[in-house]
Amino acid sequence: MNIQLLRDKFQMLRLTSRSRLSNLVATSASFYFSKWTRSTYHWGLPVSIAIEPTTSCNLRCPECPSGLRSFSRATGMIDTALFEKVISQLQKKTSYLTFYFQGEPYLHKQFLQMVQYAVSKKIYTATSTNGHYLTPEMAEATVKSGLHRLIISIDGTTQNVYEQYRIGGDLAKVLEGAKNMIAARRKLQSYTPHVIFQFLVVKPNEHQISEVQKLPVK
Ligand code: SF4
Repeated sequence: MNIQLLRDKFQMLRLTSRSRLSNLVATSASFYFSKWTRSTYHWGLPVSIAIEPTTSCNLRCPECPSGLRSFSRATGMIDTALFEKVISQLQKKTSYLTFYFQGEPYLHKQFLQMVQYAVSKKIYTATSTNGHYLTPEMAEATVKSGLHRLIISIDGTTQNVYEQYRIGGDLAKVLEGAKNMIAARRKLQSYTPHVIFQFLVVKPNEHQISEVQKLPVK
């Protein structure tokens, strides 16, 4: 296990509390007891939750309802008051917030303020981005928000391969954004966010798996 990963695990551990641990025991017990009795028992509150800041996206990936513009629900931005209400109701019991599902989180203008709010309640926050909005200013604001984990999708080493899945995307911009992120973390002497580069393997890019590890983003 490398040092960054260890630090990331440590961040998670230091956010645990007695009430979150007892909630974990309660939810696990309801799962096993329901399985054993073949009835439904439900104790505790969610240990982890996923919230989409937005369902909209700047790209058009072919396997994603956001990319295909094919949602059966409305496309929009979460109301920050609703977000804060949910977090304040769960904060004592919930440890982990996945801040994405379908949609590009950085399109929500208050995204980092929401991260900051969850972090102030000592909840571990993780998000994923297509990397098109990581300007130097946004990268610094991300570090300052206290976000714990950031996944950046880099799905090709050349523009023509990258854009076959990330339709409408600009690989140079993503690589620039990734560099900005690392530079901001260094400048602010922060261990967070823990940055993970994601390479989603599809037929057009599978021959670039070894090349992507050599990309100069650090
Ligand atoms: S970048 Fe993510 S949210 Fe946007 S279309 Fe692609 S998979 Fe969907």
